Amino acid sequence: MKTADVPGIPAPFVEQLHDDGIEELYPPQAQAVEAGITEGDSVVASIPTASGKTLIATLAMLSAVERGGKALYIVPLRALASEKKAEFEAFEEFGVSVGVSTGNYESEGGWLGEKDIVVATSEKVDSLVRNGASWISDLTCVVADEVHLIDDRHRGPTLEVTLAKLRQVNPSLQVVALSATVGNAGDIADWLDADLIDDDWRPIDLRKGVHYGNKLSFDDGTEREVRIQGNEKQESALLRDILEDGGSSLVFVNSRRNAEAAARRLSEEVKPFLNPAEEEDLADLADDIRDVSDSDTSDDLAEVVERGGAFHHAGLAREHRALVEDAFRDRKLRVICATPTLAAGVNTPSRRVIVRDWRRYDGSGMAPLSVLEVHQMMGRAGRPGRDPYGEAVLLASNHDDREELFDRYVYAEPEPVRSKLAAEPAMRTHVLATIASGFARTRDELLGFLERTLYAEQSTEEGRLENSADQMLDYLVRNGFVENDDGDLSATNVGHTVSQLYLDPMSAATIIDGLRAYAKQNSKSDYQATESAAGFQTYSVDTSDEDTGEAEGDTKVPKPTALGLYQLISRTPDMYELYLKSGDREQYSEVFYERETEFLGSAPSEYEEHRWEDWLSALKTARLLEDWADEIDEARITETYEVGPGDLRGKVETAQWLLGAAERVAGELNLPGTVTVGVRDAKKRVEDGVREELLELVSVRGVGRKRARQLYAAGIETPADLRNVEKGVVLAALDGRRKTAENILENAGREDPSMEDVRADASAVPDDPGGDREDESTTEAQESDQSQTSLGDF
Ligand code: ADP
Repeated sequence: MKTADVPGIPAPFVEQLHDDGIEELYPPQAQAVEAGITEGDSVVASIPTASGKTLIATLAMLSAVERGGKALYIVPLRALASEKKAEFEAFEEFGVSVGVSTGNYESEGGWLGEKDIVVATSEKVDSLVRNGASWISDLTCVVADEVHLIDDRHRGPTLEVTLAKLRQVNPSLQVVALSATVGNAGDIADWLDADLIDDDWRPIDLRKGVHYGNKLSFDDGTEREVRIQGNEKQESALLRDILEDGGSSLVFVNSRRNAEAAARRLSEEVKPFLNPAEEEDLADLADDIRDVSDSDTSDDLAEVVERGGAFHHAGLAREHRALVEDAFRDRKLRVICATPTLAAGVNTPSRRVIVRDWRRYDGSGMAPLSVLEVHQMMGRAGRPGRDPYGEAVLLASNHDDREELFDRYVYAEPEPVRSKLAAEPAMRTHVLATIASGFARTRDELLGFLERTLYAEQSTEEGRLENSADQMLDYLVRNGFVENDDGDLSATNVGHTVSQLYLDPMSAATIIDGLRAYAKQNSKSDYQATESAAGFQTYSVDTSDEDTGEAEGDTKVPKPTALGLYQLISRTPDMYELYLKSGDREQYSEVFYERETEFLGSAPSEYEEHRWEDWLSALKTARLLEDWADEIDEARITETYEVGPGDLRGKVETAQWLLGAAERVAGELNLPGTVTVGVRDAKKRVEDGVREELLELVSVRGVGRKRARQLYAAGIETPADLRNVEKGVVLAALDGRRKTAENILENAGREDPSMEDVRADASAVPDDPGGDREDESTTEAQESDQSQTSLGDF
């Protein structure tokens, strides 16, 4: 089918496709059009990577907008949201507006109502639905990218419930679900009342094979000699072989550490293939990478990048990832060693994909990867229009392995997608959200809604859905999030807050219990715990003493410490804890006894094996957050806790969110004011990575943790000081950087911020303002970043 013959799409788009050299639809695309994709009909397309799923989505969305409708594109990863938005922005030329929503859980997103096409993660859409965004009911078309991820334990249930809700709000909604090739795409199509396109057509041939000995054997019967030299590893020989052919390679391994080690080794193979101009390009790229952050990971990555290789995993900062992906697409980098994160949707094709590790540690031992995962990695092989074909290779170390790999992955069909909604945290969270957002007002309505999920479609066991729903209801009622009045369901105030904040109810319950226990333990006789009608304990000042005002009463409960609060939020299922390594148990037990009084709630005893272990891992996570809030240098934190800068950033963001939630919840439970203040301070400190005395200074735009410490050391403690102090002192504290100093003074509201003719007053600044806490190296990126934010150091 010619693109010009597709009905219902804007003419300028056809021209745009034409300019991009796309005149003929790929066969699966033509099938989608025949199934009515441009006329509002629902379709599930289960087709391989690189077979043009995006164009199917685009045709559906543009035709929906052309008919006066509004479309939503749901992406599985935040990183993909910006990629897709950049792609769709080309439509603005012919009047189609595009918005992306990846922001925080709470932002209301009203402005998105104006856009024709909205791009968002399923978590974001779910949060918009929970918060009652009105434009949701205007949607006429929704695209779900990588819908097979419904099978993912962590993210799947949200996608599943979101689709069910969108369909309940808009019964005539067109759903276009894009999936990798899976065993049971038909189930998904039945569930969504959609036509099914199930095709394994690819625009470029893919050969799948296994390397063993000196030979690479493919599924089409062809063979290629790839000789191993000496005792080198198979992947080295396979990489060299493809480099000699002018290709590049993606190598998938099973852990971050392995990705880094393999990248170091394999980049040595690339080096001899580089000419001086290419080496210069790579040196520039390495500089850009070092500028992203002053961590070891940044240095390690830059080092391998200089030699033409890279590693890629979830511990990298977002900026690192983008630099690596772009450089690989531009052929500057010839090999990337990646954990499977890269297989999940980021478009980085390569002539040869090497799946080196097909087993992964799953908590108890090494377990084989799913066929679907391995096929997703393999699908990255071959760049249409540039490579003659793609090759995906597994590695066998003996004959039996070779046979097993062919059977297990090369010839095998991917597993069916199964709903994971029955998993506890998912059920808990979504049952509460369904009640709080008014989707279900009675038990029957709740069951009716759950009937619309894939879980119900796939569940064969009689009464199972009903049972798990009832169990969850019971939990939510017991914890005071939901009231069940003879089958009439409503969320309590706290229940509403918890749902809107996107907390797992169990996290909320942990936080509430901890804060309450703290208030109770520390309150003097002025505070009484009283049971409210909803079963909540609230704390109020004892009114029998007429003179005791609330403010005065508050002072009697001391502020909880930052460490105590960090440990509390780290105990929740929403905080991904750090593992205890060997020796950690002893170390953190010691910390526990030293700081026992700071913890909120009652600690388990050492003999309660599991709970004790959990408590200590939470303490380790809390110590990491405390170090960050104590201005310890990022590089030192990543080294001490053996995490990447991306992990640190993730922990800090999660802590900010959970403490923000704790602050709201504490306010609602009427806990003593000092508890709320303690939570707020702990949140601000982790947000900016500073000690308490710098909180005021970092509120000035352009002042991050390092600059704040330098200013403080020079005697400047508040924004008011910035407005009044001698300018020479400010200039000296900021290492003589005039532009930076001017900006900061302006942001602090100084009337005449100009630094012209000002001389730095070196006598005002001590030699080492940060003491042993700081690494004083300031990168160029930080210096040029005038709006240095709290996380500017990453
Ligand atoms: P998928 O999402 O299925 O992995 P994409 O939608 O990213 O694949 O498409 C892969 C590549 O194929 C893109 O570069 C896209 O421009 C190109 N492409 C898509 N449809 C066509 C077509 N009909 N003709 C030529 N190229 C196409």
